[in-house]
Amino acid sequence: MKVLVINCGSSSLKYQVFDMQTETVLAKGNVERIGIDGAFLKYRRGDEDTITVEAEIPNHEVAIQLVFAALTNESYGVLKSAAEIEAVGHRVVHAGEKYASSVVIDDDVMAALRECIELAPLHNPPNIVGIEAAQKLMPNVKHVAVFDTAFHQTMPDYAYMYALPYELYEQYRVRRYGFHGTSHKYVAERAAAILGRPLSELKIITCHLGNGASVTAVNCGKSVDTSMGFTPLEGLIMGTRSGDVDPAVITFIQDKEGLASEQVNNLLNKQSGVFGVSGVSSDFRSLEEASEAGNKRAALAMEMFAYRVRKYIGAYAAAMGGVDAIVFTAGLGENSPSMRQNICAGLEFLGVKPDAEKNNARGKEVDFSANGAKVHTLLVPTNEELMIARDTVALVQG
Ligand code: AMP
Repeated sequence: MKVLVINCGSSSLKYQVFDMQTETVLAKGNVERIGIDGAFLKYRRGDEDTITVEAEIPNHEVAIQLVFAALTNESYGVLKSAAEIEAVGHRVVHAGEKYASSVVIDDDVMAALRECIELAPLHNPPNIVGIEAAQKLMPNVKHVAVFDTAFHQTMPDYAYMYALPYELYEQYRVRRYGFHGTSHKYVAERAAAILGRPLSELKIITCHLGNGASVTAVNCGKSVDTSMGFTPLEGLIMGTRSGDVDPAVITFIQDKEGLASEQVNNLLNKQSGVFGVSGVSSDFRSLEEASEAGNKRAALAMEMFAYRVRKYIGAYAAAMGGVDAIVFTAGLGENSPSMRQNICAGLEFLGVKPDAEKNNARGKEVDFSANGAKVHTLLVPTNEELMIARDTVALVQG
């Protein structure tokens, strides 16, 4: 079965086509600047060089048409016709409390996604636009929604509730939801496979450390706590997001600086995190360089980042009553041996003991714990698209 996986942002679209018999990627790419001047499509067949096509791309429907034109191109395409695609998997950010797993999209699902717009005003609208555009172009295949929040619906109420007046939960569903669920689930499953043990027996802490970052406690295959909350702002320090702060700081800054709520939102989401602390960059590669060149604030930002992740690992070991494995994934988690090392430093009391030589790896699956370490430390590259394709096949085949 050939499956198209689509991930729509407000002005972008990422896509991959899988042959699910072999779970191989036939082609992948992205469309950028949709609805903006200078739009383009990038397309890559297998491991070949990337092709860039510049075009006027006023909306997501035209973007998907362009994707199909590339996929069926005579010289570099991978499909004879669009009809070879038998199902489409869509990444959707927020399903609120409605879905704890992926679903085949129908009118009820679309209504539920619209209801969740107020919970994810930046993410759900482009996801919905992408689904509608794809359905219009491929009306005869099943479309599946795979949610970032779904994996975390197993959190117990004492973990997902905020200690706010209960009516706010009842009225507005103000609670913790968690995100990056597809990634946390994928790497937890891979960790169990690497360790050769059933997921149902393991206590795993998964650290998704990219531009957005979150940690999840996965107990016996179920998410029991995660660091992101009502929105992806809570928890770890991120590229430009603050993560946890005393909520009183927000009203204090609002009063001092005379900021409207939109401006505070912008400050916390776009101007904070390691970027805000360092004043250098949200990219850890630049921070490492700046720190090596003696920039103290860049060094501080990285130390704060590592410390926050370490604290969450300790908290989640306590939440689960132990930990068998800590998994690192996403851009930073997969590519920075020094950050992994810094996070693990100080966790020896838990039985964490990384091997420096084994840890000197990037972008491939490695158990980098030292011989005899009580807690395994693993590097597992994430693959959210494959997870979406797998869920899509499972649902379409009934
Ligand atoms: P992601 O959001 O998963 O794509 O991760 C993006 C982030 O990963 C970037 O902002 C970088 O900070 C980080 N990153 C990627 N490659 C490296 C690397 N080689 N060394 C350190 N950080 C990296």
